[in-house]
Amino acid sequence: MRDFFSRLRYKTSVFMRGRCGGDQFSRFLSFALIVLIVLNLFLRRRILGLLAWAVLIYMYFRIFSKNIPRRYAENQKYLQVRARVLGLFGRSGGSGRSFKEEAEYRKAYKIFKCPSCGQKIRIPRGKGQIMISCPKCRTEFEKRS
Ligand SMILES: [Zn+2]
Repeated sequence: MRDFFSRLRYKTSVFMRGRCGGDQFSRFLSFALIVLIVLNLFLRRRILGLLAWAVLIYMYFRIFSKNIPRRYAENQKYLQVRARVLGLFGRSGGSGRSFKEEAEYRKAYKIFKCPSCGQKIRIPRGKGQIMISCPKCRTEFEKRS
């Protein structure tokens, strides 16, 4: 029996040699597949089922693909998009702050935009009606902080 499994593992490794296998994009696809299946359980939409099939087929197509440079490029593209999406939600505007830090930061400060040049100005909250002067173009404007 053990022999059978080791032979199976060997055959699998021979089969997978020179193929793409799993990468981050594959992992994302399998996650998307689970999400689609669960959604479909609740919503029962034909389109979700079709999408799940499409994702499943594409996932296996990638895993067994022999065109590694192409799959590698797709994975890089995915990582780029993911970094950008995480940037939108987790780290705002490249400030380098985490999501939690950003929430605390937003609680403590209010961000105003200069009406003439668009410069963003950070004002501590709870100071009432104040005059703000833009550090860039010196325009003064009144705001509630
Ligand atoms: Zn300004």
